[in-house]
Amino acid sequence: MTLLDDARRLAATGPVCDACLGRVFADRSFGLTNAERGRSLRIAAALDDDDDFDPVDTADCWVCEGRCTEFDDWAARAADAVEGVEFDTYQVGTRTPPLIEENERLLREEVDAEPDAGEPFKMEFNREVGKRIGRRVDAEVDFERPHVQFVLDVADDRVETTINSAFVYGRYRKLERGIPQTEWPCRECNGSGRRGREPCDHCDGSGYLYDRSVEELIAPVVEDVMDGVDALFHGAGREDVDARMLDTGRPFVVEVKEPRRRRIDVGRLESDVNAFADGAVEVTGLRLATYGMVERVKELDASKTYRADVEFDAPVEADTLAAALDDLDGATVEQYTPQRVDHRRANLTRTREVYEATGELVDPRHATVEIHGAGGLYIKELVSGDEGRTEPSLAGLLGVDARVTALDVLAVTGEDEPFEDETYFL
Ligand SMILES: [Zn+2]
Ligand SMILES: [Zn+2]
Repeated sequence: MTLLDDARRLAATGPVCDACLGRVFADRSFGLTNAERGRSLRIAAALDDDDDFDPVDTADCWVCEGRCTEFDDWAARAADAVEGVEFDTYQVGTRTPPLIEENERLLREEVDAEPDAGEPFKMEFNREVGKRIGRRVDAEVDFERPHVQFVLDVADDRVETTINSAFVYGRYRKLERGIPQTEWPCRECNGSGRRGREPCDHCDGSGYLYDRSVEELIAPVVEDVMDGVDALFHGAGREDVDARMLDTGRPFVVEVKEPRRRRIDVGRLESDVNAFADGAVEVTGLRLATYGMVERVKELDASKTYRADVEFDAPVEADTLAAALDDLDGATVEQYTPQRVDHRRANLTRTREVYEATGELVDPRHATVEIHGAGGLYIKELVSGDEGRTEPSLAGLLGVDARVTALDVLAVTGEDEPFEDETYFL
């Protein structure tokens, strides 16, 4: 049985369009469309038989039921569906009607070919419509993580579009105390703002314990500029509500859902956010980032540098403080889960390094200390000792009760590499 014999038998099953005929042989001779393969086989068979050439009208094809005439239509519908949406990359998927899948199987049976011989309808549709979409929009196909995904639902006769999220990376400084990083739902009303018919008196009906959060001062502006439908805030850890975040700031990513704009001016966005946050929070170094930056920000091991105002219960001498800080410098600290930490969290003893500890007395009862430590080191407890749960501690080494009265985070630094890796930026 030769190739031409197979082609003759397939063509004899009824009107089979060039694309459906050629698709059975899609793994032969690259650089051709399936329609070209099908038409060439039909011509070759006609020449071989010295018969008149008898073209088939694609609309009459019993295999695809004429769908192979619709590539341009579907491309136009897909392009219309994302009118006004900025995107650089896209991907096309097709939902094949079960009847067409069955027809393809029956066609292949005719020549005892495997049910999946050549290429399925779905792949041809994806490619042919995909090419045509590319000619209509200024974007390229991306099989990994495209900005826009089209599903051509041929059975239901509709185009589904998914606009994937856009990501903006930056660092924030929190210049005022008493601001949580993310919205903090009221625990009395679970964020509903209501107790039965009455407004919740714990949160004055707002549903939140704080009027502001770092997230709420940044994310809505990014969402607005990118014209999205929602925005998520992903921080590289978080500082306590009463701690400031100063100096180089903390890495974060804002994820904007279904953005209609992506090619934004990040310098201008930075000014817009900073104007909106009005001095409570400031952002720097905003850049458009990839999807992978979300995980990087959340997972990359980072050390932290803190500055703490410390108060002592008895006078401390400068030399004693210096010696205690010297002992902490480079120490390995064992911390049992602090008393103030969420009780739902598992209690365990963790070991954390103190990389550097310096400081000086303000007066015999007060000092300012700077600690650079591994991620997860609890600074308030490192100072107070947390009633023996943290060992060693500044209070323990001094033999004087000590507590942090004000805390600032000065730096959040990747342990092995910086957060700002160019491969994660667009
Ligand atoms: Zn067909
Ligand atoms: Zn409430």
